[in-house]
Amino acid sequence: MIDKLKALQAEAAGAVAGAATLAALDDLRIHYLGRKGAVTGCLRDMGKLSAAERPAVGKAANEVKDAIEAVLAARGEALQRSERGARFAAEAVDVTRPGRRSHRGGLHPVTLVLREMLDLFVGMGYAVADGPEVETEYYNFEALNIPAHHPARDMQDTFYVAPGVVLRTHTSPVQVRVMETTRPPVKIVAPGKVYRCDADITHSPMFHQVEGLLVDEGVTFADLKGMLTAFLHSYYGPDTGVRFRPSYFPFTEPSAEVDIQCVLCGGSGCRICSGTGWLEILGCGMVDPAVYGFVGYDPERYQGFAFGMGVERIAMLKYGIGDIRLFYENDARFLSHFS
Ligand SMILES: [Zn+2]
Repeated sequence: MIDKLKALQAEAAGAVAGAATLAALDDLRIHYLGRKGAVTGCLRDMGKLSAAERPAVGKAANEVKDAIEAVLAARGEALQRSERGARFAAEAVDVTRPGRRSHRGGLHPVTLVLREMLDLFVGMGYAVADGPEVETEYYNFEALNIPAHHPARDMQDTFYVAPGVVLRTHTSPVQVRVMETTRPPVKIVAPGKVYRCDADITHSPMFHQVEGLLVDEGVTFADLKGMLTAFLHSYYGPDTGVRFRPSYFPFTEPSAEVDIQCVLCGGSGCRICSGTGWLEILGCGMVDPAVYGFVGYDPERYQGFAFGMGVERIAMLKYGIGDIRLFYENDARFLSHFS
């Protein structure tokens, strides 16, 4: 029995020395010292020995067990060291290599242009007003003198959220909301998102507008013309040609569309201005007295003007951008031109 144990010890020592991985070592531990292992088997067989033989064999068995455990532990430590060493080598970081460059963000061109525009209007004494993007038909249409049969109410142009509720198609409802709660003089600009069922290279289903409203006593079309010309001259340069053309809007009378001299060809005619030398930039007019009826202003006492313009269009003309969709694609290469 003792010889058998000694043989097991020698065999185990050889096998442990040859184990290449911690997993293989674990298998060996089970094979020799496990519940059904070789050494355990010998200890179990001690019951068959005589009482005289037992102490010597028991002592030998325990010594063999300790010896095998010792070689397992030593080999385990060595394997762990070399496995850790290999892992560290694989995970090594070269701290001398230059780091990745982080990109610096900037403001979106629409935000930049909007802020520039608002700066100019605030400089002229306008307050900034705000209103909801989900509007009732009353504020978006009726109170702006756009009755139910008007083509602007066509389902093709307007996003309906629920019966009688729309995504505002212009920032003009803010005019009505401000006049409802304020007595003249009123002098506000209302920037914000507007929505129309329309999409091509110059139209987007969502875009930004800046709306302006001034109501006071003794306001004339000359005030409107002077103020907008001053605004366009500060924005596009003092030598830019500006012209007013008669137009029609339901909530202003008289109404005008305003053109600036083509920013690309300077007025000689090109593809952008369709050879005319002019670019349409905004719409405006004197507030229609019918609108005052909805907000309780006395049309005999007060006059006013309103104007509205698309922020993306202003930005496209300023930067020579041909496709409105570039603003919304979030391509960092495009956006980085403006920061
Ligand atoms: Zn042109």
